[in-house]
Amino acid sequence: MSEDTIFGKIIRGEAQADIVYEDDQCMAFRDLYPAAPTHILVIPRKPIPRLCDATAEDQALLGHLMLTANKIAEQEGLGDKFRLVVNNGEGAGQSVFHLHLHIIGGRALKWPPG
Ligand code: AMP
Repeated sequence: MSEDTIFGKIIRGEAQADIVYEDDQCMAFRDLYPAAPTHILVIPRKPIPRLCDATAEDQALLGHLMLTANKIAEQEGLGDKFRLVVNNGEGAGQSVFHLHLHIIGGRALKWPPG
């Protein structure tokens, strides 16, 4: 269950995180194992395990997560040079089954990713 992930614990205040932003729908904190100088995770308070589990009911929430990522990128001084990543499913590298957007920036980013 998504509620039982480490991110669920962070939302409930049961686990520590370096929180950079929060509102009634989402929160954002620094990745514990950063892949770039700036690496922040944006997560909904609602426990959606994977992007593919989101439904039409989540449309506004998903938009909010992306616009919040924009705001955080600006706050972090990333300008227009950052990447948003959603790993969907174990085969795509997802390791925490609570939906999250990675904001990655602060270094040159190559394409395609591995
Ligand atoms: P993913 O592999 O897409 O599921 O991403 C999960 C991310 O969560 C990884 O980048 C981990 O480094 C990060 N992570 C795992 N545990 C924590 C934690 N307690 N606090 C912050 N980030 C974490």
